[in-house]
Amino acid sequence: MNAAELTISQLKEAYRSGDLSPADALRSIADAIDEKDGDIGGYLEYDLDLALSMAEKADIKLPLGGIPIAIKDLINVKGQNCGCASKILTGNYNSPYDATVISNLRAAGAIPFGRTNMDEFAMGSSNENSGIKKCRNPHDTDRIPGGSSGGSAAVVAANTAIASLGSDTGGSIRQPASHCGVVGLKPTYGRVSRYGLVAFASSLDQIGPMTKTVEDAALLMNALAGPDIRDSTCLDEPVPDYTKAIGQDIKGLKIGLPKEYFAKGIDPEVEKKVRAAVQKLEALGAETVEISLPNTEHAVATYYIIATAEASANLSRFDGVRYGHRADIGDAVSDDEAALITHYKKTRAEGFGPEVKRRILLGTYVLSSGYYDAYYLRAQKVRTLIREDFTKAYEKVDLIASPVSPTPAFKIGEKSSDPLAMYLADIYTISANLAGICGISVPCGTVSEQGKDLPVGLQFLGKPLGEFDLLKAAHAYEAG
Ligand code: GLN
Repeated sequence: MNAAELTISQLKEAYRSGDLSPADALRSIADAIDEKDGDIGGYLEYDLDLALSMAEKADIKLPLGGIPIAIKDLINVKGQNCGCASKILTGNYNSPYDATVISNLRAAGAIPFGRTNMDEFAMGSSNENSGIKKCRNPHDTDRIPGGSSGGSAAVVAANTAIASLGSDTGGSIRQPASHCGVVGLKPTYGRVSRYGLVAFASSLDQIGPMTKTVEDAALLMNALAGPDIRDSTCLDEPVPDYTKAIGQDIKGLKIGLPKEYFAKGIDPEVEKKVRAAVQKLEALGAETVEISLPNTEHAVATYYIIATAEASANLSRFDGVRYGHRADIGDAVSDDEAALITHYKKTRAEGFGPEVKRRILLGTYVLSSGYYDAYYLRAQKVRTLIREDFTKAYEKVDLIASPVSPTPAFKIGEKSSDPLAMYLADIYTISANLAGICGISVPCGTVSEQGKDLPVGLQFLGKPLGEFDLLKAAHAYEAG
């Protein structure tokens, strides 16, 4: 039995029966990484000895006892580097504390193992913006794994991890899950604590699970979700047992199909797969109805104003004084004001990659006096309209189904010189973040491109705190 290929629930069973120990699982994952990750680049680093020392103490009776979970490089794990795949932090920032999701995972018995590659500070859709190294799609290494949680998706797809954590600000869990053929769940805003997640856009960011099966996503959600006094946006709402959603039928469930999500621009082969998935849901007893989310066309523009505005504020803390990389400014004296400005400029110019700089510039611009009303304030108003579109839709339906991404994984380099084309690929995922609702991507087959089978994802979008229904529908689909 190759432990690295197992799901969380299979590994739990193997521990229970005594076929495998947590140390066996870690060694087999480390072997798989040595064998495959050189071609994929899903991991930035891992520490087998540290993980083995945790495995010795693992209590396999706990819900995730002894289960290794790979962690996206922007979630703080005490004592480990938290680099955000950026040169400004990598190698020179060690987390002084655990993020709440990490404390929650540890309390459930899990072992955080490895830091996964990503777009720098989670800004991107292809992982090409990693400041450290490329990450490739395990289904075709000439293609992108998606982003920004590209590494977290790739390691699960390549069986170099059991499961992982990602973060989703505009699609960064669901889109790479779709491109790599794994399950990715973005929780409702506030369902999971953001304490210890390096902030990109604080009103949009959420951490969530990336797994081989829907059941595993439910198992991880049980550990991740819940209130947190350290994050004031975290909801004080009870956490259901999400594993109870597994195996329930979906007879009579009302699923809306937004006409704007099946409009022009979608790859015909991707559309075929998603439509076939919808037919399968109908065969399983769901009722589907066409709905409209009329403000969809404004979502990309709205997101790229709000997300960049928040990013420009959040990233101002990386100044070379408090965190990470510090530029060498030679003999200049640091209490001289001009030298201080030179120091900031040089540190940030050296530390940040081009996409991060673009976002900081855009965000600073939309917040600047004279432009604030025309851009930022207006975007906030459109955000409200987008949220209302969903509120109205959920008066008629329980869930929404749609594609995750208009195309399968594209070739590395294909869109990197055209940021706008890259941004437009987020069209089906970002509205959920703007509205604060939850979403999941579940594999729904593959399309063939140049002899390679590339995964396609089906997205379900749920009501606020509707994760239970998402998991129920996704599991019924996966099993059906
Ligand atoms: N692709 C989007 C962006 O580049 C979303 C990123 C994310 O969800 N972190 O901003």
